Amino acid sequence: MNSDEEIEQLSVESRIAPPSLTCPSCDGLLPSGLGELSCKLCKAEVKVDHAITRKSWLEEKISCPKCNKVLIAGVDDRPCTLQCGSCDSIFDVTANIPKVEITCPSCERRMRMNKRPGVRKIACPSCQEELSVKF
Ligand SMILES: [Zn+2]
Ligand SMILES: [Zn+2]
Ligand SMILES: [Zn+2]
Repeated sequence: MNSDEEIEQLSVESRIAPPSLTCPSCDGLLPSGLGELSCKLCKAEVKVDHAITRKSWLEEKISCPKCNKVLIAGVDDRPCTLQCGSCDSIFDVTANIPKVEITCPSCERRMRMNKRPGVRKIACPSCQEELSVKF
C-alpha cells in the first residue's frame, strides 16, 4: 500500500493559437488546430496547415510548470509532450484555447469565454439573461 506517490498531471497551455479559419463547405468556425480537422457543424473533413504557426510552435518558449526554467519547445505540433532539461519533469503542452470577449446585451457586463464552434446558451452571471452565442 503506497498512497503517497501521486501522479501529477503537469500541463501548460500554449500561447500560440493557429489562425481562426472557417469551414469551406458551411462557413462555420473550424475547431482551433492544424492537420485534419473535422467541422463540428457540417462534419466536413478539412485539412489545414499553416507554416508560420508551426514555426512559432517550434520556437515557442515555455516555462517548466515544476521548476519554471524556460525551455524552447522544439516541437511543431500541439498538444505535445516535453521533458524539462533541468528537473526532468515530463509535461504536456496543450493547444491554445482561443478566448473571445462578449458583452451582455441587457446589462453590458463583459465576459470572456472560450471560442468553440457551434451555438451555445449561457446565462449572464450578473443579470441571468440567457444569451445564445454562435461562432
Ligand atoms: Zn462545416
Ligand atoms: Zn523543470
Ligand atoms: Zn447581463
